[in-house]
Amino acid sequence: MLVYIGLGSNLQEPIEQIECALAGLEQMDGGWLSNFSSLYRSPPMGPQNQPDYLNAVAEIETTLAPLELLDRLQQIEGQQGRVRGRRWGERIIDLDLLLYGDEIFDHPRLQIPHPGIAERLFVLLPMEEVAGPDLEIPGLGRVGELLKKCKGDEITKVRQ
Ligand code: AMP
Repeated sequence: MLVYIGLGSNLQEPIEQIECALAGLEQMDGGWLSNFSSLYRSPPMGPQNQPDYLNAVAEIETTLAPLELLDRLQQIEGQQGRVRGRRWGERIIDLDLLLYGDEIFDHPRLQIPHPGIAERLFVLLPMEEVAGPDLEIPGLGRVGELLKKCKGDEITKVRQ
């Protein structure tokens, strides 16, 4: 199954945190990192009194079931010292399961596609970079079309 993971960080050297999480994805049993995007910087979405975020998207091939994969992602977050704070607050690392093939999944622990994809430039832009504009988000449409409609904050590519 081809899946897309969103990575985000705005604490403790965000570039290193994202690289560390990518390494964690690379080493994950049952998953193979096949591609990843540039890093993008954007202002915080929630409370404004926190640093800007760095975001990226990774593409992975996996044999893991959706909840197994979520467990692995949460393990990686835990290993990097993620602690749960205020909603939309600062974080060392955040790993979101954005898409799991073309499946729609609704479970108390896991919604796929990840809610909010269509409004988030910091998800759509790196996703288009990795997968191209024709990638279909189940129930929402193609990434390229969603990007055209997405009214964005400032977002800058910081690194290839
Ligand atoms: P966050 O603060 O963004 O890390 O949210 C984490 C919570 O969102 C966890 O309790 C997950 O069970 C839940 N969640 C629901 N859907 C997803 C998803 N697609 N990817 C990651 N976490 C999810």
